[in-house]
Amino acid sequence: MPPPDGLLQCRRCGWVHFAVTRAEVEAEVAEFNFFYARLTPAQRDAHRAPLSLASYEQCRRCKAPHHLARPVAAKMVPLGVTLLPLLFPQPAL
Ligand SMILES: [Zn+2]
Repeated sequence: MPPPDGLLQCRRCGWVHFAVTRAEVEAEVAEFNFFYARLTPAQRDAHRAPLSLASYEQCRRCKAPHHLARPVAAKMVPLGVTLLPLLFPQPAL
């Protein structure tokens, strides 16, 4: 289950991301790659892609693995900052 405020902070660099589930990531990757596959080569140059699940498994700044992130309260995050998605690490069953 994602953290209460839905935010994760990288323990290595301090960047904050919003937590997403594996199902959300898989749906987003599939949707974007479907779109990307239909672009012309010139249009593809304007995008970073195709997307992969692996890009959501690491901090977008320092590339630390997502399991090193910890929940953080929204009140600790400055207003106006850009938040990027990070796969919420599920505990082992
Ligand atoms: Zn980081």
